[in-house]
Amino acid sequence: MNTAAEVPRERVRHKVLVVEDEHDIRELLRYNLVQQGFAVEEAADGAEALDRIARRAPDVVLLDLMLPRMPGLELCRRLRAQPDTAYLPIIVLTAKGAEVDRVLGLEMGADDYIVKPFSPREVVARVRALLRRVNAASEHSVPASFEQGRLKMDFSTYEVFVDGEKKDLALREFELLKFFVQHPMRVYGREQLLDLVWGRDTFVEPRTIDVHVRRLRQQIERDDSNPELILTVRSVGYRFNPDALG
Ligand code: CA
Repeated sequence: MNTAAEVPRERVRHKVLVVEDEHDIRELLRYNLVQQGFAVEEAADGAEALDRIARRAPDVVLLDLMLPRMPGLELCRRLRAQPDTAYLPIIVLTAKGAEVDRVLGLEMGADDYIVKPFSPREVVARVRALLRRVNAASEHSVPASFEQGRLKMDFSTYEVFVDGEKKDLALREFELLKFFVQHPMRVYGREQLLDLVWGRDTFVEPRTIDVHVRRLRQQIERDDSNPELILTVRSVGYRFNPDALG
């Protein structure tokens, strides 16, 4: 007799969210993706897409740029601005070759693009390639979490707990804290931190770091007027002191 335990477990199916207002194109993509073993969800506009993503994030978003009401680029920008979806893999479908630079650039942050008209086979291949890239990156990356004393960080869910209490950190502050815990004790200058945490292409005042450090201290220090974790090194920058975590 076949008990539940003996039934071979189904391979995990990656979920693709197809965001496209044209019904025929959605159908074409769905048909081909399902045939290749993907689970597919559909959204006909940006608002519906945001709603579906909020309920349960897909593994990949196929995003058409020409959408009614909320353009695809706007949706992309919103997803990138949210910690939960900042790294959600996105492939943009575009008819406009000229926009490709903007799409892939810092501004929008799509992972890949496909120019219409496309072959469904190409789309499936690109989805697979992107998933491989994402999986490889997460396998090679440093541990997915940090825990020491009072501080616990989950790098995949962007959750931070201090003394067991969940803290609401902005994305920049989360990234900054992640950098600090991964590079303890060393002193970093403001410009260095900007380069290493923000990226070289950002043009902000080095003093911006101070604002983020101040906010971070308010969240993680016992007494932010007398910080013991993120230490100021006068006229140089900052240093993270994990010993104070206990
Ligand atoms: Ca469209």
